[in-house]
Amino acid sequence: MAQKSKEKSTRLTGRIVIPGNPSYNTARMEYNRRFSKFPRIIVFCQRTQDVINAVKWARERGIRLRVRSGRHSYEGFSAVNGGIIIDVSEMNKVKVDRKNRVAIVQTGNPLARVYKKLWHKRVAIPAGTAPDVGVAGLTLGGGVGLLSRKYGLTCDNLKQVKMVVASGRYGARTIVADRKKHSDLLWASRGGGGGNFGVATEYTFRVRTISSVSIYSITWKWSDLEKVLPAWQRWAPSVTNRLTSTIEVAAKQVGTIVSTGQLLGGAEELRRLIRPLLRAATPVKVMVKTVPFIDATKFFAESDLNLEPKFKITGAYGFQPLPPEGVRIIRDFLSKAPNRHASVWSQSLGGAGSAVSRVSPTATAYPHRKAETIYELSARWRNNREQKQNIQWVKRFRRALRPFVKGDYVNFPDLQIKNWPKAYYGVNFGRLKQVKRKYDPHNVFRFAQSIPVGKQVRK
Ligand SMILES: Cc1cc2nc3c(=O)[nH]c(=O)nc-3n(C[C@H](O)[C@H](O)[C@H](O)COP(=O)(O)OP(=O)(O)OC[C@H]3O[C@@H](n4cnc5c(N)ncnc54)[C@H](O)[C@@H]3O)c2cc1C
Repeated sequence: MAQKSKEKSTRLTGRIVIPGNPSYNTARMEYNRRFSKFPRIIVFCQRTQDVINAVKWARERGIRLRVRSGRHSYEGFSAVNGGIIIDVSEMNKVKVDRKNRVAIVQTGNPLARVYKKLWHKRVAIPAGTAPDVGVAGLTLGGGVGLLSRKYGLTCDNLKQVKMVVASGRYGARTIVADRKKHSDLLWASRGGGGGNFGVATEYTFRVRTISSVSIYSITWKWSDLEKVLPAWQRWAPSVTNRLTSTIEVAAKQVGTIVSTGQLLGGAEELRRLIRPLLRAATPVKVMVKTVPFIDATKFFAESDLNLEPKFKITGAYGFQPLPPEGVRIIRDFLSKAPNRHASVWSQSLGGAGSAVSRVSPTATAYPHRKAETIYELSARWRNNREQKQNIQWVKRFRRALRPFVKGDYVNFPDLQIKNWPKAYYGVNFGRLKQVKRKYDPHNVFRFAQSIPVGKQVRK
């Protein structure tokens, strides 16, 4: 009896939200409204001790837990029915040490806040585009964005992570992982995916000085797909690594193809660099300008605003340009998209001198170093009755395109991927399991596609 009461001695601290509280409904919601889960408790942690208490509390009671920051998981992995959500979004300090070129960023920060705080000191980290994506999940899975080809993935710039891990039978403790101590956990935190090992509370990033950049946007007619997409795919990985670019082919009913990009350099140089794209087909609209870096982050954030609330997305990597058959598949699927909110998006990652490709596939847990591009096939909708058709469309599209692409980004998770350990982690899965066994032997941090402790993988 005494033992039992001791086991349940920890009290929750932080801002606690439970069913019945006026804020429960907003507190429980994921960004992807396809999911609507009902946790028993949500703890908004303000201090590391709140996180430690929450992990202990859950373990003492055998209650399932999930870790949450920006809530942007595609498959709702940061929510749970009947369990506790440990939310770090109120831990959002940022400290820049410009002299030593590092920033200490608490993991509750959304990207827009990180960019803004760093911009005040005229420094930046390479990170993603959506303003409200959490730096926590983004970094642990990799982190691709418009500075990737020059400065690498977000995780490549992670020097240190503070993490609350499970300890003993019911406990929790903070550890600091860097190159010297717990270097295996730092390795795993650089692409091993969120929610697998513990609760990251603080990151130390290497930062780069930044001032102005040049950006472009080119719009073509949808009917130019066969000219524009292959031209972009040849050009994007071969151009200077100071230029990272994207292309988005919308559903046919929208009628456009848009490419955007960012150059660490001037507008005149950018105008010259994009010539092969402008020659591919006659554009409907072209914009090239030099702007302060912070304005560029806002420009790229626009494409992630005002989207339909429910979505299904699947990803892929391109290791060479698509053959005509691959482009035809994209044309076919986007001609018959379930609605106007479907699209194919791609971003350049590798190629000529790219910082992403320079790193060996085993140097960090993120293995897709040799990919030239990354893709997203997405469908979005509002009403539940549209759901089945949209999900089926993404599933069939994925299957059709697979012969021409490989692997998957763990930050674009898809529950329909059968062999997800290989797709996300490739050669690094074995080592990730070892790290899991060392830091979370009781499998406290688990969800549908978490790294397993033993041999069993949920498929
Ligand atoms: C609109 C949109 C735009 C996007 N743009 C980009 C982009 O430009 N580049 C890019 O690389 N990716 C992008 N992504 C994908 C994004 O990187 C992932 O969705 C990422 O996992 C989101 O992290 P989060 O903290 O917001 O999400 P959450 O749902 O809070 O967490 C995601 C995963 O990480 C875990 N996790 C969260 N916090 C912690 C923590 N403190 N410690 C340990 N584990 C934690 C969760 O348990 C969950 O498994 C985008 C996603 C969306 C929806």
